[in-house]
Amino acid sequence: MYPDVLLHIDGKWSASGSGRTIPVVNPANEDVIGTVAHADRADLDRALDATERGFRIWRKTSAYERAKLMRRAADLLRERAPEIARLMTLEQGKPLAEAKLETMNAADTIEWFAEEARRAYGRVVPARAEGVYQLVVKEPVGPVAAFTPWNFPINQVVRKLSAALAAGCSIIVKAPEETPASPAELIRCFVDAGVPAGVIGLVYGVPAEISEYLIPHPVIRKLTFTGSTAVGKQLAALAGQHMKRVTMELGGHAPAIVFDDADVETASKLLAGSKFRNAGQVCVSPTRFLVQEGVYDQFVDRFVSAAKAVKVGDGLAEGTTMGPLANERRIPALEGLLADATSKGAEIRTGGSRVADANRGYFFEPTVVTNLTREMRLMNEEPFGPVAMVTPFKSFDDAVEESNRLPYGLAAYGFTRSAKTAQALGVEVETGMMTINHIGLALPEVPFGGVKDSGYGSEGGAEAIEAYLNPKFVTQAGL
Ligand code: NAD
Repeated sequence: MYPDVLLHIDGKWSASGSGRTIPVVNPANEDVIGTVAHADRADLDRALDATERGFRIWRKTSAYERAKLMRRAADLLRERAPEIARLMTLEQGKPLAEAKLETMNAADTIEWFAEEARRAYGRVVPARAEGVYQLVVKEPVGPVAAFTPWNFPINQVVRKLSAALAAGCSIIVKAPEETPASPAELIRCFVDAGVPAGVIGLVYGVPAEISEYLIPHPVIRKLTFTGSTAVGKQLAALAGQHMKRVTMELGGHAPAIVFDDADVETASKLLAGSKFRNAGQVCVSPTRFLVQEGVYDQFVDRFVSAAKAVKVGDGLAEGTTMGPLANERRIPALEGLLADATSKGAEIRTGGSRVADANRGYFFEPTVVTNLTREMRLMNEEPFGPVAMVTPFKSFDDAVEESNRLPYGLAAYGFTRSAKTAQALGVEVETGMMTINHIGLALPEVPFGGVKDSGYGSEGGAEAIEAYLNPKFVTQAGL
């Protein structure tokens, strides 16, 4: 049913040197379903040796050949998607349809970056003297250390892995211990496609121990991390001390602004779908719903109905539209945020608790909260769960002021029929990504990333591969 997940080092799948493992729990029933190997220092040293050798091979592999191997990996991933998606649902909890979509989308991401590998052009700069060529060539930065979280076990890995491989970098992935099998299967597709030994390493263990060892290590030239802002700041500081290139994809607290002139039916339907996807454990999840006074009651009414219609259950069960939270610690985290808000006057319109009749599993009710104030933790801390906070606003400026109030700036949503308002939103909201009148984020071909405390660098679009390339200037005169 579920494998004991191994490390992948130097082209081989293996247990850790010490034989240590970590249990993996199904969040839908709390059963231990398998184990994952726990890398120790000696395993990390082997991975570092291998990645150094892998880099020497991969950087000399032509972009044409790299792209060919990557496309083969994408084909394998599509073929294996049904089985891989099932593993993802078992370990992470999300509905099977969401797990399948994530897996199929990952194949698109690999293909997109495979094509981008062949277009990592340099340039020729006109010289001041005759007979001189001034060349700007793009070189891979070197071996990469990637740290990815449990909310999108494949998607978080594939963005980093595909961009790094396309650029000619080798990579060591520290994938999530809670959800290890599906990312391991992703990597198996690359291995089976023929990517040489050492180019991709896969380890699990104690995240802090691994990051503290890999980031300062001289072999590693770049860090890429997805996770919370607090951890991201620590890791970025460490990378800074060792002058490593960094991409940081961190937390958010996305405003979703609905104006009086919006199509409220469509807005509430699309935003509810987006809110409760993956039980709200999404960095770009809409969280602060700012609704103009004229349509506030209508929006709350529709949104509460949509929340009540969500079918919470085991992700493998037919008809489930929202699974459990991925790990137990999210439950007290949400309970704490909601208790703080209600003690200060917030009103829970639906949900608000762990699902009472589920004896086992980390199920939480789709929740809608109103009567909020800025003093409440919920309005300041990322809920990272199925909780929507709805607040009325009067004017455009009020909505923008609230949107920009927090140190986060990852995603923002807007709904309006006015072209003028839509354009002004795109200008005024401090965010890395803005989607207006539809949900259109996170495609491989467009930038994905934040500003302010939400991080820096992009994990999509042409910008993403640049993060794995150094420009080298070569000037050359004829003899
Ligand atoms: P956490 O902050 O402990 O961990 C978040 C991620 O960072 C995990 O994958 C973890 O393995 C990793 N991590 C933690 N410490 C690390 C270290 N020293 N070195 C390397 N990696 C490290 O929190 P959590 O309980 O796992 O998740 C809760 C919070 O994390 C959420 O509230 C959310 O803000 C954030 N988160 C964000 C994303 C995202 O997509 N941006 C994904 C998952 C979690």
